Amino acid sequence: MSTLDIRGLHAEVAGKEILRGVDLTVSSGEVHAVMGPNGAGKSTLSAVIMGKPGYKVTAGSVTLDGRDVLALSTWERAVAGLHLVMQYPTEVPGVQVADVLSEALASRGRDTSDMGALIAREAARINFDEDLVRRAVNVDLSGGEKKRNETMQLAVLKPKIAILDELDSGLDIDALRDCARRVEDATTEDGLGALVITHYVRLLEELKPDHVHILAKGRIVKSGGPELADVLERDGYAAFAPVEA
Ligand code: ADP
Ligand code: MG
Repeated sequence: MSTLDIRGLHAEVAGKEILRGVDLTVSSGEVHAVMGPNGAGKSTLSAVIMGKPGYKVTAGSVTLDGRDVLALSTWERAVAGLHLVMQYPTEVPGVQVADVLSEALASRGRDTSDMGALIAREAARINFDEDLVRRAVNVDLSGGEKKRNETMQLAVLKPKIAILDELDSGLDIDALRDCARRVEDATTEDGLGALVITHYVRLLEELKPDHVHILAKGRIVKSGGPELADVLERDGYAAFAPVEA
């Protein structure tokens, strides 16, 4: 059982405060959806959790099972069990996915003797063309193929807690269903805890949230059950504008 605990998190980028006191706790097996308008700070939250350069934490804490995540470098956070599926997956010319996954598993002290079979199995499970696995990471892949590739990596690495930043952006319906179902399965099979950032209820029909949070102007302004996503779909974000301090 693992817990990612975010407490009173304030962060700024380029001298501007973007996160203004975020509290959020994600434990194994739970799916937390974070929804919010453009510019609310959703991607900033994911960047701060993983330690992307350029973001400055000015107050608050992020811990994984009590360990200070903010004191770790990004790769140490990954080894500790955090994983980010980026909104716009990065292309890495000259580097094959299989090599990345071998290195990543080895650094976690896990068996890498059967990588080929493991990758083939996970690729097939989400209808990701195995030939594409041999390409350099995400190079010349379509938007949907990139997200399938990222989801395949998540499935192989089995992190404790995953942050999915708009898994649904750039995906067609079939790819969305395959990727969302795979993550949903990981929450039940492997006890993955998921922080699912999205604009759209469509994703949440496959990847069913236990909790829904609305992030607006750097704060969580409302939390509730899955029904909150339906309220948002109907009424939009306007009703949840944050009260200015
Ligand atoms: P969301 O993902 O909710 O749409 P973001 O976290 O991407 O929002 O952005 C929140 C705000 O922070 C926006 O006003 C955005 O312009 C700003 N921002 C994010 N990253 C940077 C950056 N690297 N440099 C400057 N401004 C940034
Ligand atoms: Mg974003």
